[in-house]
Amino acid sequence: MSGLRGRLAPTPTGFLHVGHARTFAVAAERAGTAGLVLRIEDLDRARCRPEFTAAALEDLAWLGLDWTEGPDRGGPHGPYRQSERTAWYLDIWRRLEAAGVIYPSPHSRRDVEEAATAPHETDAEPVFPPSLRPARWDRAPAPGGVAWRFRVPDGRVIEFHDALEGRVRRTAGVDFGDFVVWRRDDLAAYELAVVADDHAMEVAEVVRGADLLTSTARQILLYESLGWLPPAWCHAPLVCDAAGNRLAKRTAGLAIRDLRDAGLSPAAVRDWRNASGASRSTAPT
Ligand code: GLU
Repeated sequence: MSGLRGRLAPTPTGFLHVGHARTFAVAAERAGTAGLVLRIEDLDRARCRPEFTAAALEDLAWLGLDWTEGPDRGGPHGPYRQSERTAWYLDIWRRLEAAGVIYPSPHSRRDVEEAATAPHETDAEPVFPPSLRPARWDRAPAPGGVAWRFRVPDGRVIEFHDALEGRVRRTAGVDFGDFVVWRRDDLAAYELAVVADDHAMEVAEVVRGADLLTSTARQILLYESLGWLPPAWCHAPLVCDAAGNRLAKRTAGLAIRDLRDAGLSPAAVRDWRNASGASRSTAPT
């Protein structure tokens, strides 16, 4: 067996685009015969749509990416749907609550923005100010309609090795603050769900976009609190458009299906970086 078991984790809020194709191609290459898990990150029911999930499965198949495991493990593996895994996330919430590392936080994003100092460069979100932490709170049997945050160890440097970036460091309380693990609309938040699933699905290497480097530092803190060993990390460079902007979810002309319809081959779409140099002229409009 070569490679480390990986995963593909698309969020079905739009069609997959060349950025996904590239990250997923890197994931498939690195996983080798250790195989890939497919996980549909459809927790946010208001934003995710079943037709995008169906389209994602079709696009992945067209790209030649497959989530059947190597012959030694049996397959296929997935697709798993996060929307069906709430009981597991609640179990994790309970463990974190019992460990005393999370607290209920009624503050809106707006409160945080107002109370925070200048937003930090490495993350779009403002750093949650310690002044908004509660002095005390009651034990709770369930999240109960309020957001819950993980209390970060202020000043601690979290260092990890990334397969492409090398050594990465983030400082808790500086690069990121207390982060949401459970949302007030009673859904698991991204950081909790992804750690719960990568662990349960025995993902040995997480391959994803470089925009999630700071999230990795948050997730390492969760692994630690849960007493789990974190996976290996590989953050692929983001695909940008001709103007150097990061691709958004709905990027006209750069959706995998648009390129397929324009006659490009799966290999050309997987290798978009090489084929295009992000040149607009190769993308149909
Ligand atoms: N579901 C996320 C996305 O589509 C990826 C999260 C992850 O890889 O950890 O952007």
